[in-house]
Amino acid sequence: MQTPPQLTPDAALFLDFDGTLVDLAETPEAIEVPKALVALLGDLHDLLGGAVAVVSGRQIDSIDRFLAPLRLPAAGEHGVQRRDAKGHMQEQRAPDLTAVLDAANELARVHEGLLVERKHAAIALHYRLAPQLEAVCRDAMERVIAGQPQFELLHGKFVFEVKPAGVNKGIAIDAFLGEAPFAGRVPFFAGDDTTDETGFAIVQPRGGIAIKVGAGPSLATHRLDSTRAVFEWLLQARDLLTGPAALSPKDAEG
Ligand SMILES: [Mg+2]
Repeated sequence: MQTPPQLTPDAALFLDFDGTLVDLAETPEAIEVPKALVALLGDLHDLLGGAVAVVSGRQIDSIDRFLAPLRLPAAGEHGVQRRDAKGHMQEQRAPDLTAVLDAANELARVHEGLLVERKHAAIALHYRLAPQLEAVCRDAMERVIAGQPQFELLHGKFVFEVKPAGVNKGIAIDAFLGEAPFAGRVPFFAGDDTTDETGFAIVQPRGGIAIKVGAGPSLATHRLDSTRAVFEWLLQARDLLTGPAALSPKDAEG
């Protein structure tokens, strides 16, 4: 895997959030978002004609809170929610999650270190503080959705998540690419987790650039080592897009 090429003025930029833009923390609420990152994303949004979107497993509310005052186009809960460039929000109806929530809560009651997160249409069971419980968590979540094809179990970094089937980051990115200002641009997508692979699978056949952040196998043909490396790459992009190289050759001559 190679270092990604730089963003060009005709790029559409899709970014995962946790583990890509910000380092993971002990709980989803404990992350720290540098002010410089918020400013940088705002600048890139302007420089790329609005074609910058966050594509996350988080709810869009949460992304907005951490990136305030920015309100970028976004896909939340792996695409269950999507807010387009005009600010229109689409959201799938939530399935009945009662049994899943009960099972997750029961597990968290019996074992220390588990965190249950209720989202709009999904239940996430975080085991970052108790990694030894991975198999226990997997078994319980697999059992509760067995024989229910409307659900799908996602395994991310120290989290199992029950979400509606037929929704993923790739489908969300594809929907953005069918709309202004993303349509017709070269898609770039950076993500760090297994759940980002569906996004990589969408952008690469469209002549786009998939960027795996951190270690691990991936479909992506490009790699950046860390959130720090992503930040540096985006900084460089801003410099290039605002600098003389961003001008057309004709402008540069004059
Ligand atoms: Mg991530």
